[in-house]
Amino acid sequence: MRKKFVVSVSNLKPGENPLTLSFPSSLIETKDAEIPGNIDAQLILRRNGDRIDVRGDVHFLAKLVCSRCLTNFKKEFREKIEVEYRQEIFRPKGLKVDLRRIINQDYYSGDEIDLFPLIRDTVILALPMAPVCKSDCKGLCPICGKNLNEGECGCKREETHPWKEMLKGIKEQIKRG
Ligand SMILES: [Zn+2]
Ligand SMILES: [Zn+2]
Repeated sequence: MRKKFVVSVSNLKPGENPLTLSFPSSLIETKDAEIPGNIDAQLILRRNGDRIDVRGDVHFLAKLVCSRCLTNFKKEFREKIEVEYRQEIFRPKGLKVDLRRIINQDYYSGDEIDLFPLIRDTVILALPMAPVCKSDCKGLCPICGKNLNEGECGCKREETHPWKEMLKGIKEQIKRG
């Protein structure tokens, strides 16, 4: 299954080489999200000598759980891909960091480029750590648990916001000098 992600550089013609990959999400371990359908990657591999420029996007639909109101919702993702692959010999010596994420550059050895890590990381990084069903989601009432997007429950809740508490703390610190 992973084989179709491996591109043979010598098989690429100079200029543009389109590549479409569609695969089941079970190939990628996603912790909190479920991806019910396929993951589709539409890429163009541009070959310039032994430099391969990979551009395109990865498209998928994820089922997420709102971190505020705990309802399930679906979200469509279309993530951009833009990485240039160079031969391993050009990798800066002694540099251990992953350049792919910093300056969109990666390296290949021999004749093969494995695009799987690139696509996998693109999907994983796109998934939010704390998903919200909508930006103004009101969340659940901490007293009765009612979903406040569906209306008020009548509980007497004290309005505290984390940032207000933080601001209070900073003000007190300034007072104390
Ligand atoms: Zn929500
Ligand atoms: Zn309530």
